[in-house]
Amino acid sequence: MAEAIKLFQYNTLGALMAGLYGGSLTIGELLEHGDLGIGTLDSIDGELIILDGKAYQAKGSDGKPEVVEVSNDVKVPYAAVVPHQAEVIFRQRFEMSDKELEERIESYYDGVNLFRSIKIKGSFKNMHVRMIPRSAPDTKFADVATRQPEYTMENVSGTIVGIWTPEMFHGVSVAGYHLHFISDDHTFGGHVMDFIIEEGLVEVGPVDQLDQRFPVQDRQYLFAKFNVDEMREDITKSE
Ligand SMILES: [Zn+2]
Repeated sequence: MAEAIKLFQYNTLGALMAGLYGGSLTIGELLEHGDLGIGTLDSIDGELIILDGKAYQAKGSDGKPEVVEVSNDVKVPYAAVVPHQAEVIFRQRFEMSDKELEERIESYYDGVNLFRSIKIKGSFKNMHVRMIPRSAPDTKFADVATRQPEYTMENVSGTIVGIWTPEMFHGVSVAGYHLHFISDDHTFGGHVMDFIIEEGLVEVGPVDQLDQRFPVQDRQYLFAKFNVDEMREDITKSE
């Protein structure tokens, strides 16, 4: 059997929801575990996009979107990466909404209980993204989430990367799609809200194992008291 493909997840979305925003894993370490993924940066300063083994940060500072490459020493509080291997590849040849495309993607899944890696390279009639704004720890994520800058770009080429999570792992991550976008010219990106694709190449990759890491030396995480019901609700609301 081929080597198992591991989804490497650093910290849980639940911990992030509870206001633990301090970065504790470097991008350098993160990239050892995968070449495609998503996350956020220290102090939830924008959206992390991992594409082809490189890390980018999309921010919405000063009223305009910005994308910068992230160096290896920057730390993240939450991220998920996978050594993406396309198992299903199909070309989307005509215009579709995000919901329609997601249904088409799901039609290729074997059941609904495994994680999947997703990569969609294409041209988009429009792409609507948001960027989480840099915030102080203990500001509730659900409150931060209500004031996130959002942007829509028309006629943009680029790549969507992300993870599809089975329903039963909601809390560890967000059930369903968690997708980030970066334009080909690296000037626009963020957390995907919705889009219309014109055409593109869609890749779906398998995940055989979940490697769930914890911030074992982070005292804040260790002694945090999580309200699990509220946490699950916040994830549903915010993501
Ligand atoms: Zn995101």
